[in-house]
Parts: sequence; C-alpha cells; structure tokens
Amino acid sequence: LGPLAGRFDVDALAECDSTSSELLRRAERGAPSGSVIVADRQLAGRGRRGRSWLSSADGCLMFSVLWRSQRGLAGLGGLSLAVGVALVRALERLGASGVRLKWPNDVLLATPAGDAKLAGILIELAGGRREAQVCIGIGLNLQTPAGEFAQPVAGLAQALPALPERHDLLATILVALLGVLDDFAECGFAAVKDEWQARHAWQDRAVRLIEDGCAERSGICRGVADDGALLLETATGCERILAGDVSLRVN
Ligand code: ATP
Repeated sequence: LGPLAGRFDVDALAECDSTSSELLRRAERGAPSGSVIVADRQLAGRGRRGRSWLSSADGCLMFSVLWRSQRGLAGLGGLSLAVGVALVRALERLGASGVRLKWPNDVLLATPAGDAKLAGILIELAGGRREAQVCIGIGLNLQTPAGEFAQPVAGLAQALPALPERHDLLATILVALLGVLDDFAECGFAAVKDEWQARHAWQDRAVRLIEDGCAERSGICRGVADDGALLLETATGCERILAGDVSLRVN
C-alpha cells in the first residue's frame, strides 16, 4: 500500500453481498477506522434507500472504507460530496477528463450523448465502537454496465485510453480519499467546496427535485453551501436542500 500503509487495511474478497454490508457487520464486531473491503463481485449491491447497485464481475470497482469521524456525526454534512471530489482527483490524476459531480452522491461522465453515471457513493453510519464511524461505499463502473437504467450510465473505459490495474486504481483513489478526509476532518466540506463547485455538472441548470419518488419542485441549481446543502433557486427564493431522500433530474 506504500504511502497508505498504517492508514488503510484492505481485505480483497472474491464475492460478497455488498462491500458496505460486509464492512458494517465487521464494524459491529469492532473493526477499526481504515478497514477497507473490495470485492470482485457483489450479489446485492446497494444504493440509497433500498435502491440497487448493479455490476458485472470485472465491470466495476466496488469497495467500502470505514472512517472514524473526528467531527462527530453533526459535522458530517457534505461528506458524500467530499468523497466525490476525491474520486475526481483520482480519476483526473489517471488522465480522465469530463468527470463531473452531481449532487448529492453521483459521479458523472460527460459524453457526446450527455451526462452519464460513472460512479455512486453511499455513506452509512457504522455502529460497533464508541466513536462515530461511517462506512463510505463506492461503486465505480470500469465498463459501461449492461441492462436497463433510468439514467444514462458510463464506464471509465470511455474516459481513458487504457484502464489501470484494479489495485492501482484502488490505491490511487485511496490516496485521494485520504487527502480529502484529512481536510474534511479539519474543516468539513468547506475544505473542498470550491473544487466540488468547479466540477458541478448542473451548475445554473434547471432541475427537478424528486422527493420520495414524486416530482416535487423545480428550480435552478445555484451550487452548494459549506455544509453540502444544495442551493436551489425557486420562484419563491433560494432554498437550502438537504440530501435526505431527494434526487435531482435535469430538465
Ligand atoms: P440520486 O439522483 O438520488 O443519486 P439515484 O437513482 O442515482 O438517485 P442511488 O441510490 O445513488 O440513486 O443509486 C442507485 C441507482 O443507480 C439505481 O436505482 C440505478 O438507477 C442506478 N444504478 C445501479 N447500478 C448502476 C451502475 N452500475 N451504474 C450506474 N448506475 C447504476
């Protein structure tokens, strides 16, 4: 692990239900901050609110990281956005361009056919130890996933002339994640807000906010606040939107 030795302890599995489910079980049994699980195959990959993350063997890099938050639970606003910044840093370092961020937890790739989902981020609270720990789950498509998706999807192979080895890709992402998490521990999301804004896929675009599956309201994306809340300009003024079960769709 080179520079990551002592900070991360990686366990590579051939198969599991979901790397986050497995890591959360280990957290219950006392696994320490820095534990990482990566799996070749997931049988029951998860998104937010019971949604599924679908992946074929070899087609997706799936891993989860346990992280002790020195900020306490109240200071975790914007963590999924900060993790997105780490993914952008890592992928750009590997030579990818067109990587963009969608509030609150998606990484998109700008393609000739429009923005397509490249990676998803899932943040969950982990029990087990006295201090607050979170499980950071990441699914990064290497190849464009096959199947029916509500939104366009993409794979990293579209953004790079050649895919790196999986362990090199994981190590590059973990190095970037370490930098972002250290900054986040000091200053929260504000530490990387400008970087997030600079890669915001839908800045100043008209969007629909979908809450609990029902279309709710429309507005213009005006960026994000220091705590990661989305700033949505509506007919009645600028609203702060907290992640919860809110999904964004571009109009
Ligand atoms: P939001 O806009 O709220 O993020 P979302 O639909 O992206 O909504 P998530 O929970 O972040 O929700 O991710 C799960 C969703 O991602 C699934 O419902 C599916 O539409 C999509 N999805 C599942 N597997 C993949 C994949 N391998 N690549 C891209 N998208 C996927």
